[in-house]
Amino acid sequence: LRHLASSSNIITCPFPEIEIPTCSIPEYIFSKFGSYGNKVAFECGVTGRKYTFDELRVKSYNLNRALRKKLKLQKDDVVAVLLPNVPEFPIAVMGILLAGLRVTTMNPIYTQDEIKKQFADAGAKAMITLTELFPVVKVALTGKEIPIICINDQASSTTPTGAINFKEFADNSCDIEDIKLDDQNAVAVMPYSSGTTGLPKGVQLSHRNILANLSQFMSDDFTIMRLASGDFQEVVPAILPMFHIYGFTTICMAGMNNGGKTITLPKFTPESYLKLLAQHKATILFAVPPIVIFLYSHPAVKKELLENVHVLVSGAAPLGALDEQKFKDKIGQKVDVLQGYGLSEASPTVMMGARKHDPKPGSLGNIMPNTEVKIMPVGNPDGEALGPNQTGELYVKGPQVMLGYHNRPKETAETLVDGWLRTGDMFYYDENQTFFITDRIKELIKVKGFQVPPAELEEIIRDFPSVNDAAVIGIPHDIYGEVPRAYVVAKPDSKLDVAELNGFIDSKVAEYKRVRGGIVVTDCIPKNASGKILRRELKLQYQNGK
Ligand code: AMP
Repeated sequence: LRHLASSSNIITCPFPEIEIPTCSIPEYIFSKFGSYGNKVAFECGVTGRKYTFDELRVKSYNLNRALRKKLKLQKDDVVAVLLPNVPEFPIAVMGILLAGLRVTTMNPIYTQDEIKKQFADAGAKAMITLTELFPVVKVALTGKEIPIICINDQASSTTPTGAINFKEFADNSCDIEDIKLDDQNAVAVMPYSSGTTGLPKGVQLSHRNILANLSQFMSDDFTIMRLASGDFQEVVPAILPMFHIYGFTTICMAGMNNGGKTITLPKFTPESYLKLLAQHKATILFAVPPIVIFLYSHPAVKKELLENVHVLVSGAAPLGALDEQKFKDKIGQKVDVLQGYGLSEASPTVMMGARKHDPKPGSLGNIMPNTEVKIMPVGNPDGEALGPNQTGELYVKGPQVMLGYHNRPKETAETLVDGWLRTGDMFYYDENQTFFITDRIKELIKVKGFQVPPAELEEIIRDFPSVNDAAVIGIPHDIYGEVPRAYVVAKPDSKLDVAELNGFIDSKVAEYKRVRGGIVVTDCIPKNASGKILRRELKLQYQNGK
């Protein structure tokens, strides 16, 4: 396993390189369906609605034709997908991709303001959503002639006036020739991420980026998901959202790639998750730290519920070695607990515990195949890469690294330096080239694994009539990982009502972005000479009880 750093301290994967598929996402993934086409691919954990792999493929082809023929969408147009985890999610995505279009995924709990902003920034031309979300989408897209395709996920729901029934598109074929998907470097997916600074940006991930990451993640030394064959099929509860890149690639795409049965849960509640686990014998669990904590600490999670689980993968936020151990103690030592690290800009996985090589508890394991990383002194992209046991910013190069940010050449140039992706995360590696994350230096706050860009909250708070200036930082939280805390300066001679401001923020943002860490009224926001907020100073103030 031991693999020495080159003199330049650029670290490569210690395991063999892999071959990366050379076609488009749907072509590659559908070519796998042959051996398990009639197995159930996606099933709703609440309603039991399900599709086999063959049905999924046929419906995706139908949707692709209808999008081009009936909606006249053209190559590279963007279609927004605003969906929780439902079994139609992969059909929507594959249909869009087969049509040569791009998909931008959105959080279904977004407010109308959040939907409006991402839809406009992505320049989307159509929307696929749930019938129950139609009212909020309609308001968000007021004044625009946008086709809205609705999925009826409840037996009782009917397609609203003015909307298109998803079934009509997915269940009927229309007469139009299929197109050639000959550019593997075309943008396929555009999740939104704030990156190292500023507002959310469209992360352009190509067909090749996603297929590369899927193949890296599935490579021999890391593999966690066995291929379906005979009666065997992995059973994977999908509680992490598939609109986020972690769920998109490692659950939705990987499930299709390996013939696993994915059980979707549109909304996580302890009760619905427990019911799902009781009904379906899960074999693989994908989690974020609050879920791992829930699993080992909740009295209703009995060992028997998880008796078929052979691996648990945790990512998106730090999980301590002690938490790994507590999970093992409860469930049994035969379960492998692996941590992965990644980011939207890398499709997402950069490193993970290599299952075949007994990964060190609490570590982020090894770099993916075909990937290089270096640890750089903070704020010095031209400096010398650091050696073992020295902490600095992680830079990544590999086939899973994004093409750039949509319509943002300046931010792209600041983030991709000579082909190296700056992660904004602090790392070190030991003598065995096992990696550890120590801190995040970018502004981003992560609540339950979800992105909360401070700049987005600051923009909203500054819009409040009696506010002059604002800064937002993340503070630690036992269960959520972090929560946002705001520092605000009132306009001279005006009275700032904190409760009203809180209500104003709550009306504008999804629930997890709420300022749970408190609002502090202050005289001034610490800034440097060029006006940049000194967030470290505010964090210190907080640690000192202010
Ligand atoms: P996202 O683009 O939403 O996936 O967020 C990516 C960010 O989440 C990374 O840049 C890290 O700051 C953080 N992150 C991802 N995985 C981990 C992990 N295993 N431990 C700690 N932080 C993580």
